[in-house]
Amino acid sequence: MATPPPPHPGPYGSWSAPQPAYGPPACRLCGAWPAVEATVRGHQGMVVLMRFLSLRGPFCRDCGLATHRRMSSDTLWQGWWGPLSLFITPVTVLVNLGPRAAFRRLGPPTGGFRPALDPGRPLRRRPAALLLLAPVLLVLLGIPALIAIGLLSGDEKPLTLSPGQCVLNAGTLKDQQLVVTDCGSPRAEYRVDALLEGERPCLPGAYLAAPEYGPGGYGLSCLTPLRQD
Ligand SMILES: [Zn+2]
Repeated sequence: MATPPPPHPGPYGSWSAPQPAYGPPACRLCGAWPAVEATVRGHQGMVVLMRFLSLRGPFCRDCGLATHRRMSSDTLWQGWWGPLSLFITPVTVLVNLGPRAAFRRLGPPTGGFRPALDPGRPLRRRPAALLLLAPVLLVLLGIPALIAIGLLSGDEKPLTLSPGQCVLNAGTLKDQQLVVTDCGSPRAEYRVDALLEGERPCLPGAYLAAPEYGPGGYGLSCLTPLRQD
């Protein structure tokens, strides 16, 4: 008797179907073909931290479209919350149009060991599509707000991070307030890793701290979570 396939991994699962030894690639999520090699991307921005997400194929048509729509719409909800993220979010959504076109060129999936994911509604018919207007709103509402904050807050010196330090977030996820703490403390949440040189990315799962936390108020640093949650 054949062993049953493992539980469905969903668009963000790390599990991947075994690839055939010969011939064309099979979908990593359902094992069907035709499938195409492609990477679908996502972005989570927060006021200070941000995270880059990606899921590599191969994907069949339906699993690919499902993954594209889910990651793009999640990006539209979660992507905007930071000064750099404001630019990265629309770029991520645009870059995902490449894999989307590749998935749409494929025929219907056949021969999988489980049904392909349901692609669901197209991105433009999901509520998240309205969030493409977020930058426009932000400019309209944000500039007066920034001026008001600037007038009220004076010149408070921001925290500067250096590698090897540990920090905790004394604020909320959306409104962060990083505080340097002892690395042995049970309250320590992130370790500050080597500052980025050029384009070297942070380790998977790590956050990128905004430039104002870098030495001298510029430069980027990675915040690696000390615990898996
Ligand atoms: Zn599939």
